[in-house]
Amino acid sequence: MSTVQDSTEQEVRRIGAELADAFPSAGHSPMRALDSRAMELAARDRELKAALFRFVDVVPACRSLDDLARHLTGFLEEVPETPPSLAAAMRIAHTRPGRAALGAAAAGGVKHMAHRFIVGESPAAALEVLRGLWKRGVASTVDLLGEATVTEAEADNYARRCTEALEEIAREAARWPERPVLERDSAGRLPRANVSVKVSALTPLLRPDAPERGRDDAACRLRPLLRRARELDAHIHIDMESLDSREAVLELVLGLLREDEFREGPSAGLVLQAYLRDSPEQLTTILEWARSCPRTPPVQIRLVKGAYWDHELVEARQHGWPTPVFEVKADCDRNFEALTRRLVHARELVRVAIGSHNLRSVAHAIAVSRQAGGSDQDLELQVLRGLGDELQDALAASGLRVRTYCPVGDLVAGMAYLVRRLLENTSNDSFLHEQATGTPLEELLAAP
Ligand SMILES: Cc1cc2nc3c(=O)[nH]c(=O)nc-3n(C[C@H](O)[C@H](O)[C@H](O)COP(=O)(O)OP(=O)(O)OC[C@H]3O[C@@H](n4cnc5c(N)ncnc54)[C@H](O)[C@@H]3O)c2cc1C
Repeated sequence: MSTVQDSTEQEVRRIGAELADAFPSAGHSPMRALDSRAMELAARDRELKAALFRFVDVVPACRSLDDLARHLTGFLEEVPETPPSLAAAMRIAHTRPGRAALGAAAAGGVKHMAHRFIVGESPAAALEVLRGLWKRGVASTVDLLGEATVTEAEADNYARRCTEALEEIAREAARWPERPVLERDSAGRLPRANVSVKVSALTPLLRPDAPERGRDDAACRLRPLLRRARELDAHIHIDMESLDSREAVLELVLGLLREDEFREGPSAGLVLQAYLRDSPEQLTTILEWARSCPRTPPVQIRLVKGAYWDHELVEARQHGWPTPVFEVKADCDRNFEALTRRLVHARELVRVAIGSHNLRSVAHAIAVSRQAGGSDQDLELQVLRGLGDELQDALAASGLRVRTYCPVGDLVAGMAYLVRRLLENTSNDSFLHEQATGTPLEELLAAP
């Protein structure tokens, strides 16, 4: 190992240990999202996991508690070895009152789980949470749930909801107290109001065989949204979804932000997914774009690993395509670190955000940023509500800028989101799962 690598590793261990110490419940406490018995069981048993996810998926469509209980027991009957606690629950489902009790318990469980990840049913209902986070030194970005639009009317409705959310949050945020760490970096001011947008909800025409149709249709709705964000001094972040829409999303965002009217705002960002094998080339494209059309403020790049890993793997296998994602977790983690390094060294072109709950990935980003001579204010750390709460508080307590991604919507709209979070939580390769099952801190912080 070279001397530079050596000192990076020492720094990663030091920063990681410091953050772990600052976790409110001390050390590497089991993540709260895994404290439910069903989630623990699901993490251990693939068949049970599949049954529980199918159940979570149908909950919004169930008309009665009886209906809910029938679905739950139906799915569980397909599991070869039902754990004793669930077998007992299934026995009570043989009578109508038993089914009502089981249905109520199951519905309550799913709602309880959803509320960990979703901050409110509407932007207005979420304002109190956003204000509370800000007061504790945590910035936010709001995601309006409701993905994959099928009609033009749904796309119009999503764009309208995004505009209203921007207006509501900007109005409320103007009353928040000053928080210098959250409001400024060396490129200038950072907006308080921040909304994350999904292109698949902005158009019903997003298809891999004709990316230009989806791109052009989404542009008609994203352009007014960008104008409104500029007027309100708000930030718009474009999320990245599955690979089949990536080309359209990238062309859309880079194309719009290149237009003269958006050269000086609003503040905007996009996402790079490190689980994709070709993400290094994607970053080259983005940096070349940033170099060729400098804008103020600079675009923010949120580096994540990627939320559609299972989907990309299954899709590629079904079609006999080469898998576009890394299949070994350590390869994905090493790529994440290499991209972190490149981003940190490109800060004259882009603002950098690291979206991860992995203590190693986060500590590595902080170490690399400091070694590059950057100030902490030029690195943003981002977490998901309900998954990164402890890390969020530890980062804020250490004086770092942290932003929490806050989904807003009802249970029906939230199902796809909830299932993705559950898949992540129960995967054996997940950092949070390892942390929750007591892997020693030293191992958690080891180089991938
Ligand atoms: C603020 C924020 C915004 C986000 N926005 C987006 C977004 O726009 N688009 C998006 O796709 N995701 C987004 N994500 C989700 C993000 O991709 C997942 O939270 C993340 O993948 C979990 O990674 P981790 O570093 O927290 O945990 P880790 O446990 O370190 O990593 C888990 C991830 O590793 C990858 N992985 C798992 N198993 C393997 C394997 N066998 N081989 C290779 N790779 C594997 C997967 O990507 C998996 O999600 C966002 C996350 C945050 C925090």
